[in-house]
Amino acid sequence: MADDLLSIAQARAAILEHVAPLGRGELPVEQALGRILAEIVTAAGDVPALANSAMDGYAVRSGPAGRTLELVGEARAGAAFAGQVGDGEAVRISTGAALPAGADAVLQQELADADPADGTVTLGDDVAPGRNVRAAGSDVAAGDAVLRAGTTLGPAELGVAVAAGRATLQVGRLATVAILTTGDELVAPGEPLEPGQLHDSNAVALATLARSAGARVALVRRVPDLRDATRAAISQALASARIILLSGGVSVGPHDHVKAALEHLGVDQVFWRVALRPGKPTWFGTYGERLVFGLPGNPVSSMVTFLLFVRPALLALQGGDPSPTPGRARLAQPIERHAGRDEAVRVRLADGLATPTGDQSSHRLTSMLGADALAIVPRGEGTLPAGADVDLELLP
Ligand code: AMP
Ligand code: MG
Repeated sequence: MADDLLSIAQARAAILEHVAPLGRGELPVEQALGRILAEIVTAAGDVPALANSAMDGYAVRSGPAGRTLELVGEARAGAAFAGQVGDGEAVRISTGAALPAGADAVLQQELADADPADGTVTLGDDVAPGRNVRAAGSDVAAGDAVLRAGTTLGPAELGVAVAAGRATLQVGRLATVAILTTGDELVAPGEPLEPGQLHDSNAVALATLARSAGARVALVRRVPDLRDATRAAISQALASARIILLSGGVSVGPHDHVKAALEHLGVDQVFWRVALRPGKPTWFGTYGERLVFGLPGNPVSSMVTFLLFVRPALLALQGGDPSPTPGRARLAQPIERHAGRDEAVRVRLADGLATPTGDQSSHRLTSMLGADALAIVPRGEGTLPAGADVDLELLP
């Protein structure tokens, strides 16, 4: 009965109930790209620390155009002018140099006429107070919180952390992941195919998905459809990683050994099967604090169920927010609904319209190419018409 199956949200919640963050560690800022911040970063001082010039030009006292001022020195980035700027005086100033005492504005050099022989400069424009001056603390004030715990650290966040005075950051520890792809038909990338064989694309797709969610991949193995080999491989995976991902063999065929092997090894089932297309046979269980995911073998199902269920767990383990990035769009074309399962339709987004990436069969891995989001088409009767609003989970 379809009604017995967990919804996507229920399955995700059931997984997250078993996730406790792994704790944190300190990293040099330049090694923290993609990691999840485990502390609040506050600015050690004002940024910029001092009022400084936004232009190359002349630091002056504000006043009308036409004044001819005596040049009394120079302020450069990193080398301030030590004196005072009085009435009738100007200091040559570079972008980023501290505004000298006495000056309250900068006139850019294009609007000034310097006479080096005379040691003077004539101002070609009125100069209002504060013109071309960046105030101290105008980016960040001392003590301001600039980054929240749980933030994923990208280049901008790392730069802001450095500007705020930091050389190291506390980040969530990475989960270790073991990946077992099951199937007698699987061969390594690039190998010639005998009849009935296919290239093991899931191993690469899952390992790279895991790394891009901030995990360390400790083991990747192909496993034949044999009871004992499946048991042995799962034992090895349980011994080598916190998160175990299995692909394939989790349905009910005569050569599907994954569920029985997990049960034999004492992995506790939390759920099996989700009201989801693609991805119905998804299995999840725990072994102590290890989390075990049995993902369906079809390449699209495997990627979609990783994105919907495994990725949130990996983020939560690092102390991040597991919620998907939501969105809404209108369908560009009608979609026939599945009576019993919500469908994760791969779509491209443009101008508020969601356009499916072609035939959505779960073996068509090319339907993932160029996809911006999963449009969640709720189960039900009939067809969702073009123009209907759908919920999206934006792809990372
Ligand atoms: P299964 O879930 O084991 O019944 O596999 C479902 C389908 O996915 C079959 O057509 C398999 O050949 C295919 N498949 C299983 N594992 C992989 C894999 N690692 N890479 C690509 N396709 C796979
Ligand atoms: Mg199989």
